[in-house]
Amino acid sequence: MSRLLCESHADINNDENMESVKKSPTGLTNKPEGRVLVLYTGGTIGMVRNEEGVLVPIANAFIKNLRRYPQLHDREYAEKTFGAMGPLVLPMTATDNRRVIYNVLEYSNLCDSSNMTMDEWIRIANDIKESYEYFDGFVILHGTDTLSYTASALSFMLESLGKIVIVTGSQMPIFDTRSDGLDNFLASLVIAANYSIPEVCVFFGTNLLRGNRTSKASASSFEAFHSPNFPPLATANIKIEVNYRSIFRSCNLEKFSVHASLNRNVGLLRLFPSITSDLVKVFLQSPIEGVVLQSYGMGNLPTNRDDIIKELRAATKRGVIIVNITQCATGCVSDAYEAGKLLRKNGVILGFDMTPEAALTKLAYVLSKHEWDTETKRQMMQTNLRGELTVGQPPTLQDWDLVEAVAKSLRLSSTAELQELGSILFPAMLSAAVIRRDIIKLESLQRYGADISQANADGRTALHIACCEGDIKVVRCLLKMGANIHIKDRFDRTPLTDAIEYDRHEIIKLLLQCGAHFHGNALLIGERMCAAASVGNTKRLQSYLLAGADLSQKDVSGRTPLHFAALHNHPETIEFLLENGADPHCLDILGQTAAELAETVRAENATRLLASSRRNIVVESTAKSHT
Ligand code: ASP
Repeated sequence: MSRLLCESHADINNDENMESVKKSPTGLTNKPEGRVLVLYTGGTIGMVRNEEGVLVPIANAFIKNLRRYPQLHDREYAEKTFGAMGPLVLPMTATDNRRVIYNVLEYSNLCDSSNMTMDEWIRIANDIKESYEYFDGFVILHGTDTLSYTASALSFMLESLGKIVIVTGSQMPIFDTRSDGLDNFLASLVIAANYSIPEVCVFFGTNLLRGNRTSKASASSFEAFHSPNFPPLATANIKIEVNYRSIFRSCNLEKFSVHASLNRNVGLLRLFPSITSDLVKVFLQSPIEGVVLQSYGMGNLPTNRDDIIKELRAATKRGVIIVNITQCATGCVSDAYEAGKLLRKNGVILGFDMTPEAALTKLAYVLSKHEWDTETKRQMMQTNLRGELTVGQPPTLQDWDLVEAVAKSLRLSSTAELQELGSILFPAMLSAAVIRRDIIKLESLQRYGADISQANADGRTALHIACCEGDIKVVRCLLKMGANIHIKDRFDRTPLTDAIEYDRHEIIKLLLQCGAHFHGNALLIGERMCAAASVGNTKRLQSYLLAGADLSQKDVSGRTPLHFAALHNHPETIEFLLENGADPHCLDILGQTAAELAETVRAENATRLLASSRRNIVVESTAKSHT
């Protein structure tokens, strides 16, 4: 990551404060915090005007300015909480649930997005990977010209994504007097810190869109992006309203990973009347491996052009994957017409309603999957991998939709009322099904339109409840249904925190296997472990250990769990701690070791155990010094 950080500068977010984020993911404030990493890659949003009035990116200027804008940085709070060189902090508004804390990583080569290449996409994906566990969400500041290509590519490269990634930019620089940049940036930060939408999104104007459904539609409007074939995931007006039912959730038990290679032998070929077969032939020549063919209307090409058909057939026979999408701004290809069928017969596959950006970047991704043979790659191009295409009929609301039925009987009808009802009903019913261990009910609730990750008023989801309840079958079922493992409730607890607090060891292992990571303020964790050690609760300490905690973590008095186990004379706990790397030499703020505490309170068993551990360590180190 340091490769990409801007040069160290007194007023910027540098390596040092990135380190402070890693060490202390959560501050000790009352309001829960949402941590966001901003990757600033370039584009108009951060540009400034030079002496000639021309827009140019200037290294470090963006971050320096951020600290001066009260809408973008609550200096008083930030300095009180993190010191002068800490991260940036958004001012709190009455409606926010979380304090937004953000760090900015400025790329060394700030670029106009017309200069972006696949190398930059890979670089962004790798940067997200490196800091994935330290942040709740990511905002990528990007030029608008190729923004949809980047968003689409990232949606494929970031596999089993469990956190939100928002790509945004602006038509005018953020620090111009009139600019769309400020709103786009602020809304993106707030959404990234507060909402669990595990997708690569684009935010622009007032809409949060699925990234791989977007195209740049206007060179000048503040609503520059459209999502022709899919509704917004959320709208940010006075209220931020999320359409939870349309969120794409990956339903596997895999950890988040980055597929960091792409096949560059891909291209976009747009048909036009009188296109020559020579042009088609040249276009399809080796080394090309994948082509997005933009045909007419619902996927048609001229049926009287055997010369073109011949070239297409020859290419698909050679193994080139040709994906048919429409030139129209909206709609889907199908083989409803003879002209479309002809393409299918000659090996061209349907790209359904994919945008050109999504189809091209998906090809680059699919073709770079060496573990897939050609037939699998062709199948994957026609499969909905990240919500980028609609196969068959778009899902419609069924008359038996549960919320609608209840709404009818309560005589509620507006969309807002329906949404509100759904947000109350579904979390309650999902929790009830979890408590009854009723997997069939969980599945049918999802069919009725419940978002499996929807939280109740306390921010708790069905997965939180299931981790407390402890039935691993229910937990596995929720994960397979797409439940998000990273959601923090109002008390900043994730499902993993609950599994630890209820000593659900098998569930802890499963959550970790699916990419959950241990988080929280180190001192608070230290305090909880010390409390467990005080009462000899070895099982709880095992839970912490399984989750990846450091058993030598201190509490505010500098005491470790070993100090407390010694003080309260719990030999079994002492043995467990020593076997698992607890440091018997650790001193508390009074300068005392665990053994000294045990001696002071005459805890005999503890004193004996700690004395022998000390002897063992002395013997070991003497042996080492002799070798
Ligand atoms: N040319 C700029 C870019 O794409 C336009 C913008 O940022 O809006 O980087």
